[in-house]
Amino acid sequence: MNRKLMRMLIVAAYILLPVLIAAVSLRNRSFLSAGPPFLGIVSYTWLLTGVIIASRPRFIEYYFSLDKLNRFHAIMAVVALAIGITHKLWVTLLWGWAYRYSTIFGDLAILFFLTIAVLSALVMTNWFGRKKIVKTAKTTLKKYPIANYEKMKFVHNFNIIAANFLAIHVLTMTIIVQGDYLAAAILGGYFALAFSLYINHKFLKPIRLKKNLYTVTRPEKGNVLEVHLKPDSGEIFPYRAGQFVFLRLYDPQYSPEEHPFSLISAPQDRDKVALAIKDSGDYTHRFQTLQPGVKASVEGPHGGMWHVQEGIHDKTVSMVMFAGGIGITPMLGILENSAYLQFPNKTVLVWSLKDRNEYGFTEKLQAFKEKLPDFRLVPFFANESGFLDEGKIDKILKDNEIRYEAAEYLLCGPPPFMNAVEAALLKKGIPKDRIHYETFGL
Ligand SMILES: Cc1cc2nc3c(=O)[nH]c(=O)nc-3n(C[C@H](O)[C@H](O)[C@H](O)COP(=O)(O)OP(=O)(O)OC[C@H]3O[C@@H](n4cnc5c(N)ncnc54)[C@H](O)[C@@H]3O)c2cc1C
Repeated sequence: MNRKLMRMLIVAAYILLPVLIAAVSLRNRSFLSAGPPFLGIVSYTWLLTGVIIASRPRFIEYYFSLDKLNRFHAIMAVVALAIGITHKLWVTLLWGWAYRYSTIFGDLAILFFLTIAVLSALVMTNWFGRKKIVKTAKTTLKKYPIANYEKMKFVHNFNIIAANFLAIHVLTMTIIVQGDYLAAAILGGYFALAFSLYINHKFLKPIRLKKNLYTVTRPEKGNVLEVHLKPDSGEIFPYRAGQFVFLRLYDPQYSPEEHPFSLISAPQDRDKVALAIKDSGDYTHRFQTLQPGVKASVEGPHGGMWHVQEGIHDKTVSMVMFAGGIGITPMLGILENSAYLQFPNKTVLVWSLKDRNEYGFTEKLQAFKEKLPDFRLVPFFANESGFLDEGKIDKILKDNEIRYEAAEYLLCGPPPFMNAVEAALLKKGIPKDRIHYETFGL
């Protein structure tokens, strides 16, 4: 089915699901008394859908890329929580603090979700900008070991305890207080679905992955570290060009948390998978001393950049890639794929870097010029030429004889870089659906 249509259907289902559940669960209520529980059901359904999204369901990910899904998950968690708090206040205003045991679990759920949401927003996102109060909160938090993306990701798992409290609250209300077994079956069933997907994702999937380990064969140091991984079983999972995986290393030196990295190898290479890793923080810094022989699990593949290349059927349509820094990695995977396929379309890679010292993958990039029918490389150094803007992009497209209306644009890099390039392309009149991007933040 058409991807756009399917995306619209999924969004419609997301919005309608709580309405349908509420229609059945509140069928015996008068319109006026149905208001507060309706809000409760919307909050419950969306918070549980958040748990489902966090377990990376392949079906949904096929239509929405994981970075977009994660951003949606974060925003909707806040919306669902705000609706849940409104439900709580409305119920207390109307009926007081009734149904003691059930209410305690509802309150505990809100408390847990709220604490984790505030901590996550402060540590894992750049939300709220540079307001003084946010800066003070961030500085205070930094004194504690928890103020680290990886540790916060672990703390995030406690949301499942909150989801359990929420389910106890909802089920005791529907069974003990309302005596409505149909509503309890529907609401409980949705919780069971979300909970089992979460358990599968967090516990069963890692066990399965551990049975299919990879061995680090070539950690090669250049400007970024290139890592090759060979499957112990000889079987590599199928993937598409430019996708990414979550890597977990089984070595006491490295934290057990998984980290996302793009595949720079071609899907046709069934011998190994390759990653390129930049020293960006605690975890990736330790990679610089990675030794051959370390065991790893590889979870994936994820990401939808491949849709662009596979969707180009007209030879006159060019593929224009804008990579910022390490954002080159998915582009390398796509270019390897292009070399295998002898992709006939003109391909331009604009690689923006701080300075010439950051320039890497020189042999690989040079080889693409020979292997690909029509490949142009445009390195761009910010310390020499300033940041990419509309005028510079215009010149690059003109120099490479790109008809900007007959091209698909792929963007990957730091958010300010992607925002600037996207804004410049939109200003030139390029339709939004021709600009495709993936961010390196989940
Ligand atoms: C889809 C995707 C593809 C990526 N591909 C590459 C690649 O090919 N090469 C490369 O060098 N880097 C890649 N990254 C970035 C890489 O995952 C982070 O640089 C790395 O996880 C940082 O961890 P750290 O502890 O070294 O740094 P930290 O200082 O702890 O983190 C720096 C930033 O990295 C992100 N991050 C940290 N830990 C995690 C985690 N466990 N899961 C998700 N995000 C995390 C956060 O945005 C954080 O703010 C990719 C990221 C994403 C989302």
